Amino acid sequence: MTNKKERTLVVIKPDGVQRTLIGEIIKRYERTGLKLVGLKMIVPDEKFVENHYMLDAEWKKNAGSKAIASAKKKGETIRSEDPLEMGEFILGTLKKYISSGPVIAMVWQGLNAVGIVRKITGGTEPLTSDVGTIRGDFTIDSYKAGDTDGRSVRNLVHSSGSSEEAEKEIELWFDENEIIDYRLIQEEILYDVNLDGILE
Ligand code: ADP
Repeated sequence: MTNKKERTLVVIKPDGVQRTLIGEIIKRYERTGLKLVGLKMIVPDEKFVENHYMLDAEWKKNAGSKAIASAKKKGETIRSEDPLEMGEFILGTLKKYISSGPVIAMVWQGLNAVGIVRKITGGTEPLTSDVGTIRGDFTIDSYKAGDTDGRSVRNLVHSSGSSEEAEKEIELWFDENEIIDYRLIQEEILYDVNLDGILE
């Protein structure tokens, strides 16, 4: 069965807000046909950022491993070869980064919401993320630059990695009454089996 109400969390990080890219970023997700069902501006504190990334027990190890693999591939050195230690460093930098100013939190809903949003967001590192993605088109950062300067990779947006993660993240960021159930006219063309209401 297809889930036409799959939901995902997107957060425009402080650099996205500071770069005045809010409208551009929302436009990219909006024009896919996904539906915006929740939206707010907040300043998360460091504890909140930690809670967000710790929703996934494997996150530290995975983020560390990804950074180490990328450094190896490029022949670069990295501050730690231990995934957990590297993950710990990344979490520390993220707490400062994401709590540094206002962010825009959004819930997008629709068929394949998680996968479609991840595709448009692009890979974690702007230097190597695909052209045409938000992280590929609108910024310039790299793992190397972040590691050298002891800070997070600044990549404009967060988006959930899976549907299960998305549900946990949405619960953390939004109260149930901040998410609005409504119909968009375009859903008829996206989802209806019979297109028999178009011609007069
Ligand atoms: P994604 O946001 O693409 O799902 P991760 O969950 O692995 O990626 O990492 C979360 C965020 O942590 C990234 O978006 C980025 O801002 C930051 N980050 C990830 N890896 C590194 C790293 N090696 N050095 C600095 N910051 C990093």
